[in-house]
Amino acid sequence: MWAMVAKETGSSDVLTLVNIEIPIPGEGQVLVKVEACGVCRHDILVRQGVFRQNVSYPVILGHEISGKIVSTGKKLKKFKTGDRVVCLPWSNLCCVCKYCQTGRNASCPDAILIGDTGLNGGYAEYVIIDEYNLVSLPDQVPYDEASFISCAIGTVFNAVIDIGKVTPRDTVLVTGANGGLGIHAIQLALLSGARVIAHITSADAMDELLNFGVDKVVFTDRGEDFSPIIDELTKGNGVDVAIDCVGTPTFRPVLKSMAQYGRWVFCGQVTGDFVKFSPAQIFLKGINLLSTYGSTKDHLESSVRLVRDGKIKPVIAKRFSLEDAKAAHDALEDGGNAGRIVLTISGENL
Ligand SMILES: [Zn+2]
Ligand SMILES: [Zn+2]
Repeated sequence: MWAMVAKETGSSDVLTLVNIEIPIPGEGQVLVKVEACGVCRHDILVRQGVFRQNVSYPVILGHEISGKIVSTGKKLKKFKTGDRVVCLPWSNLCCVCKYCQTGRNASCPDAILIGDTGLNGGYAEYVIIDEYNLVSLPDQVPYDEASFISCAIGTVFNAVIDIGKVTPRDTVLVTGANGGLGIHAIQLALLSGARVIAHITSADAMDELLNFGVDKVVFTDRGEDFSPIIDELTKGNGVDVAIDCVGTPTFRPVLKSMAQYGRWVFCGQVTGDFVKFSPAQIFLKGINLLSTYGSTKDHLESSVRLVRDGKIKPVIAKRFSLEDAKAAHDALEDGGNAGRIVLTISGENL
């Protein structure tokens, strides 16, 4: 099979198309013919060598996978050859630790993120997935839109619905609103009945965000203090919930934009920089600092249902073929993309 392999850390030039053996699924595993794979910022960080935890090279990147089961190992409980599937991004889950038992598989000590180690990732024609991590994909949902539901939609489902507990009474600020997380966070906040203010630092997605029903799009330069605009838009009250997909660059303006007793949910960090703050700035306003780490199978299943029912639209910024993975990485690093960049892996051009 053809696979895009990062043989070592470096620029996007390290991505090399190679032909390797199709892997054989073991007990409790399936072989998925990959139809699409989302290009996540995590992939860039692994390729660059910035993210190193449990990473080994050479590696086939990619954990945002959709496809069809083409063969199975023994002892499968539910899935069979021919099934359309999406998956949680993990392999090797123990299924017995306190995190696995409560669905928080991201924290399982045995968990290996698919695409972080070895030659089993989504930037390939085939990938091995443990059955436990599979979720059925309804026929109505196309593979390219499905690929990133777990990572880009499940994560913000967790942030907006479970952790942020957004209600129709809330005014919600979403930072990085044009990104893969943000553009789905605004949809979930709107679906929850909230008033939504979107902050962006690239004008590309302005119309798209307004078309979704966002009340205001605040467009500033990166690092600029946009809190006076939020103050004006909320008549001095601030926002009840911040879904923060950016982290350090927006920390100060978000801090100044929070309402009394606001809920501030961290779900992204785009730089390696630290922030300085006084705890008094937090507790004197009664601000709740919250965060999300990945999504659970419940989040994935709920998100797939919302997409199937047309309540959430997975937004694809650009599509690239597998052999153009380098261009896909360059496009993500260049920024200015509304939604997720996706590799569509038909095999036709390989
Ligand atoms: Zn991802
Ligand atoms: Zn576990």
